[in-house]
Amino acid sequence: MKSVFLVDHYNEADVKPAEMLNAYVQLAEKNVNDLFLRDTFVNCDCPGCGASDRAETFRRFNLDYVSCPRCHTLWVSPRPDDESIKRYYANSDAEIYWREKLSRETALARVERIVLPRVDWIIDSTQQYLPDADHFVDIGTHHDVYARCLSEIGRFSRKTLLNPICEINPGALAHSTNIVNEHISKAMPDNSVDAISMFEVLDRTSNIDGAMSHARRMLRPGGLIFITGILSTGFDIMTLWDQAQNIFPPDRLNVFSVEGLTMLMERHGFNVLEFSTPGMFDTEAVIHAVETNPKIQVPRFVSYMLENRGPEGRQRFQEFLQMNLLSSFGRVLAQRQ
Ligand SMILES: [Zn+2]
Repeated sequence: MKSVFLVDHYNEADVKPAEMLNAYVQLAEKNVNDLFLRDTFVNCDCPGCGASDRAETFRRFNLDYVSCPRCHTLWVSPRPDDESIKRYYANSDAEIYWREKLSRETALARVERIVLPRVDWIIDSTQQYLPDADHFVDIGTHHDVYARCLSEIGRFSRKTLLNPICEINPGALAHSTNIVNEHISKAMPDNSVDAISMFEVLDRTSNIDGAMSHARRMLRPGGLIFITGILSTGFDIMTLWDQAQNIFPPDRLNVFSVEGLTMLMERHGFNVLEFSTPGMFDTEAVIHAVETNPKIQVPRFVSYMLENRGPEGRQRFQEFLQMNLLSSFGRVLAQRQ
């Protein structure tokens, strides 16, 4: 299995300015409390390894995160179903703020720093593992900039955006791209897709096994799936835990561990070709959290290192995290058996 490391120098504030991120999180907390009906919540076993054992951890927005003693995955249980989550992303003030303010004002940086590297990843890996691939599907497209950039990939002659959760202007897309809004169980015939991408989609999906089995069904044997998400086993998440600013529902309903996400792929009949954690913000996130909230206690070693090793030491530590699959941003490429 392959892993890649990315050395780039930019700040998380370029793509998520702190003030706008705080406004978004506050809206999300209010919306989660107002829009989800708790009597419809469903219990959920570990979305990674499938185990029913769990340990209580912490609450965010009045929902309970539990963790798996076997694989270290972190998830919300009980949880809203996918229909409720879909309505949340269509109508919540938080999501409208994300789409119309945060996403727009950071669009240029997002394209350059996040979207285009993912497009390159898809193009290069497809060339390497499935050079005759023709039909590409992105599931749950979250930003219109993704829609535009993915539609422009010349590598595939057919592109489909399946159940996007943002509004997309079809006029902004390349001609070979269709938008399909249909339940994932009915969308796309079996074996009709060569490559699928799901960017942070598993993070906010309630029925994980359903989503994975339908993705597998659509893919032809040998087809590729590209997945990104936030990982519970990353340095900032493990260090900050209940104080980690980016762990809240429904955006992070599931926070897989490296082991949990690998087991999810394998138990759905995929071979993992690449697992990387090319995140760049773990150390920065811990520093920011400690600076803005002096009540947060981090282990003595972490506190010492961050205070005394300067920017270059912190950069080398971030590279160490990437090289050992210990950053909290993960990407997986797997192939249908
Ligand atoms: Zn597990």
